Amino acid sequence: MSRRHQFANLLEMSGSLAAVLKLRARAPVPWLSILTYHRFPATGGFECDDGVVDVTPEEFERQIACVKRHFNVVGIAELCAFAAGRPLPKNPVAIAFDDGYLGVYETALPILKKHNCKAMVFVATAVTTERLVHWWDRIAYVLKTSTRREMLLEYPVPVRLDLTGSRAQAIRSLLLLVKLRPSLDLPRFLSELSRAADVPWSAEFERRFSDQLLMTWDQIRALQKAGIDVESHTRTHRVLQTLSSSDLRDEIEGSREDLRRELGVPARALAYPVGYPLGWSSPVRAALERSGYEIGLTNGTGPTPLDGVVDRFDIRRQTVERDLSNAFFLTMLALPQFAPIHPVPSPSTTHGGG
Ligand SMILES: [Zn+2]
Repeated sequence: MSRRHQFANLLEMSGSLAAVLKLRARAPVPWLSILTYHRFPATGGFECDDGVVDVTPEEFERQIACVKRHFNVVGIAELCAFAAGRPLPKNPVAIAFDDGYLGVYETALPILKKHNCKAMVFVATAVTTERLVHWWDRIAYVLKTSTRREMLLEYPVPVRLDLTGSRAQAIRSLLLLVKLRPSLDLPRFLSELSRAADVPWSAEFERRFSDQLLMTWDQIRALQKAGIDVESHTRTHRVLQTLSSSDLRDEIEGSREDLRRELGVPARALAYPVGYPLGWSSPVRAALERSGYEIGLTNGTGPTPLDGVVDRFDIRRQTVERDLSNAFFLTMLALPQFAPIHPVPSPSTTHGGG
């Protein structure tokens, strides 16, 4: 058990956690915590990326009940007003779902409604419209189902992958390739992957796979109708910092147009696929400003301190990890400095695709 978990358990067992939460309600600390979720455990069907499963429905409901009891849940309107200089309510927390998995509609929506809890959902618009499968799920599926003992990829660089043991390492190395390779031709890479692994992949198969995994526009409109904020997660979930300027424009402006067409309102926020902060990438920032987005959200970057200057295009979010104890979850919110921060991914990091 990590030191953070030990500390959280100790706080709870000693009764201090309840005291800290009560104190926080009376004397709020200047932090904004935005919690990012992706997917509930699959209920069968296709092999896909396990790295994007965050909570069971029971854990999610427990967490939403805790958040509602102790904090003020905010949505996109409050976050945009905050970015424009107005204050947030005291003890602000926001709930976000990325990637458009079906569980948001089937599992999260009834729980959010029951607890009258706001949330924001970030969808990849072309993936939704064209009934595609996200690249990390496709990579995981192909590698998990290949009967090859090794595979040799030729694009974008020659790579030999050993498939005799655990395939997790091979999956991780290909996810990183997609995340970090500048100007990768993703469709070409994915077809090359199917060829090298000898795993067939067709448009018809992808559509069936997608229908089992991801929400349709009708389901997303039902979220919108229920008061959930639906915002952009680009068109095809590419890491924006790796794209050419025309691809960047298509992902940023194009997804805003797609959302306007499907939902009748323009997007105000974009959550960066994979979540890297923009800091070093001014072309992305310029494209966001040009397209009319009001805020941009990173991920895995921890809570946002509210007592300094907040960059509206680098608003932080923290990932909810699997198997968080209730004590750890509450401690992370009660004492924001305690929340884990994931480093910007490098070839040694291990989390999933979304
Ligand atoms: Zn994502």
